[in-house]
Amino acid sequence: MISKKDIRRLRAHLTKEKKKLERQMKKLQFVDFGDDIDSGEEESDKVEEMVTNTAISSVLQERLKGINDALARIGSGTYGVCKNCGKEISVRLLGVDPESQVCQNCKMKHGKNSG
Ligand SMILES: [Zn+2]
Repeated sequence: MISKKDIRRLRAHLTKEKKKLERQMKKLQFVDFGDDIDSGEEESDKVEEMVTNTAISSVLQERLKGINDALARIGSGTYGVCKNCGKEISVRLLGVDPESQVCQNCKMKHGKNSG
């Protein structure tokens, strides 16, 4: 059973991560594309930068979603329960991956390189 102390620790960690992500996303939004998009060569650089930022921002959004999910599950008391098999997720796994929604077993079964 995950203790309240563990949950508090993980929630603090998640909240910190969330703030960090939100800061990073704000930074991306304020990237200055400047008024100097006159020369063609520089322009393509800027476009590339923009594409990269978009990719980064979608990764950040994805992570933020996972963190929000985890925080919501902490709020509703379902945190730490595998959504696949309903078994408890070990504190150890949550310590490594606080956003995890499945237990170690299911994680291994599903794998990352299938599909
Ligand atoms: Zn499971």
